[in-house]
Amino acid sequence: MSDKLLVICEARDGELRNVTFEAVAAAKKINAGAEIVGVLCGSDEMNEQAQEVIYYGADRVVTVKHDNLATYTSEGYSQAVMAVIEDESPDGIVMGHTAIGKDLTPRLAARLDTGLISDATTIENDGDQAVFIRPIYSGKAFEKKVISSGMTFVTIRPNNIPLLDRDDTRSGDVTAKQVDVTDLNTVIKDVIRKASEGVDLSEANVIVAGGRGVKSSEGFDPLYELADVLGGAVGASRGACDAEYCDYSLQIGQTGKVVTPDLYIAVGISGAIQHLAGMSNSKVIVAINKDPEANIFNVADYGIVGDIFEVIPKLTAELKEV
Ligand code: FAD
Repeated sequence: MSDKLLVICEARDGELRNVTFEAVAAAKKINAGAEIVGVLCGSDEMNEQAQEVIYYGADRVVTVKHDNLATYTSEGYSQAVMAVIEDESPDGIVMGHTAIGKDLTPRLAARLDTGLISDATTIENDGDQAVFIRPIYSGKAFEKKVISSGMTFVTIRPNNIPLLDRDDTRSGDVTAKQVDVTDLNTVIKDVIRKASEGVDLSEANVIVAGGRGVKSSEGFDPLYELADVLGGAVGASRGACDAEYCDYSLQIGQTGKVVTPDLYIAVGISGAIQHLAGMSNSKVIVAINKDPEANIFNVADYGIVGDIFEVIPKLTAELKEV
């Protein structure tokens, strides 16, 4: 059993990402009695964020502040987090299986000469040993893994592990660690973000995703309207991205984003295995397709056989009435 678990926290534009709190909850599942230490890297003051991590279950937080940590770089963050790991000698490390987590954790595992269980969606614990369940073969099967020796190092898929209750009365130490993050081969001079529309796709509770059946970029407009009514985000199949109906940043699937919203509405998507790899763990799936044989209906909880250009406006109008 691990006695001290580090949680590598992630923030975007100064806001902690939800997956950070999920990682704290995951650490508790791995070992309810372990000390949980958050690690926060950045270039600004991080006291408020550190407190948030404590409210969600961490016992204390170590911050590493340096100008070279303003934006994520593999080298910079590896240096900073490695310095904390060397100080703390944790028995385990937990991080979100996000773009940053996927880049950083294998580097750290290689440096630490330890194994890594990536993309766990469930953690079971009978009080004796943590069992990590993760999807394989593009989500067609699940495997169970246990750590037989060495450090417990795991990344967790966002939106799968329920958060612990937030408790604003919790307190814990926040300590600043000085790390000289230098000699970087990569220096980020500027970040130009694409203007994003509304809710972040990877953390959305509701996703309306369009496929090639949407037929054009204008065809996506009703999907944005529906997503708006539901307070959700718009995603897409690769078919729709390849056809230039929308940007690749919306792509969901094996080579796109992996999402697990409460509600996934697949609109004019056939349900290729590579698409299912990114969304089949959604809690409720609704498929709208004119082909009753479309594979998407095999994973859908609710199916509507019909023309999306008729169904979507009606659905949106009905929901506006609610
Ligand atoms: P199609 O398969 O063409 O399906 C369109 C659907 O729309 C059809 O089912 C049709 O019945 C329906 N339709 C058409 N008109 C209407 C209408 N008016 N009303 C209702 N329904 C209608 N794909 C991904 O999505 N994500 C990935 O990450 C991904 N990675 C890949 C990686 C590799 C290595 C490979 C080889 C492929 C990958 N693909 C991925 C592509 C994948 O195999 C499919 O080609 C793709 O998902 C198909 O997109 P689609 O369902 O939008 O299009």
